[in-house]
Amino acid sequence: MSAVHGIADPSPPAAIRLLPDPGTGQLVDRSEPDLLRYLSASRLKCWQTCRRQFYFRYVARLVVPTAPALFIGRQIHEVLCRWNWAKWKEEPLIREQLRDFLFQQWEEETAAEPFPIPWKQPGDEIIARDQAWAMLETYFDQCPVSPEEKPEGVEVEVECSLGDGIPPLYGIIDLVRPGGRIVDYKSAARSPGEEMAAHQHATQLAVYGLIYRGTTGTQETGFELHHLIKTKVPKVIISTYGPMSAAMESELFFLIDDYLEGIAREAWVPSPGQHCAWCDHLALCRKRSGM
Ligand code: SF4
Repeated sequence: MSAVHGIADPSPPAAIRLLPDPGTGQLVDRSEPDLLRYLSASRLKCWQTCRRQFYFRYVARLVVPTAPALFIGRQIHEVLCRWNWAKWKEEPLIREQLRDFLFQQWEEETAAEPFPIPWKQPGDEIIARDQAWAMLETYFDQCPVSPEEKPEGVEVEVECSLGDGIPPLYGIIDLVRPGGRIVDYKSAARSPGEEMAAHQHATQLAVYGLIYRGTTGTQETGFELHHLIKTKVPKVIISTYGPMSAAMESELFFLIDDYLEGIAREAWVPSPGQHCAWCDHLALCRKRSGM
């Protein structure tokens, strides 16, 4: 398979489209098992981290309990989506409505999980829920986006063609601010440095840049990572970056090439490292390696 170095024959530019009202529909079946049906930031990032982890998650499709940190992050993300969505509709929500939404959604999503969330001890779930709300309140207080600013897009679901024989690139962008500033929300236990955050999330940002350009026909004006930090007293860290560089774009295409070739070869090579400490499949991986 030849290397891909640019968008070949892209789809005609179109206005970015918005998801339906949260909870009323889903445009793409993200449980799609076919690895070549579409490319996404999470698939590419997992591939980049460890091919064997990719195998467990996307090929064997092993279902594991959701880690508490991941569950908390999802709930925070949903509230921010609802908050931005209401701003977009010019029907802003007050704090009590957002807190009620968090609490209700927390209960519903807990009930919908295939396995119980592995909280360390009884009472941890309530502490985590209250902490999630404290993080959100801190964000609402310190958010650099003016309450009057109407988003250009919220939970923007985009898919762009990369040319014949290459699966389309698919993603959901948390928020697009006026002028084409792409915002992604992160919740984390500690503050990332601005440079390290950009480095760690380079693949995701490049994917968003590419799908934004491919779909709108315009270049994004930059990226923002809004980190909600889960310290005892929550913190908010905003990191801002310029548009995707040519080098980032080129590296993304080399990664896509590597992904497609590796899947064709079924090259599920393990990549042991520090990231194994939070891998869902560590025990199985060690067994498979005869350890
Ligand atoms: S434990 Fe490490 S090497 Fe094994 S699958 Fe997970 S990330 Fe890969």
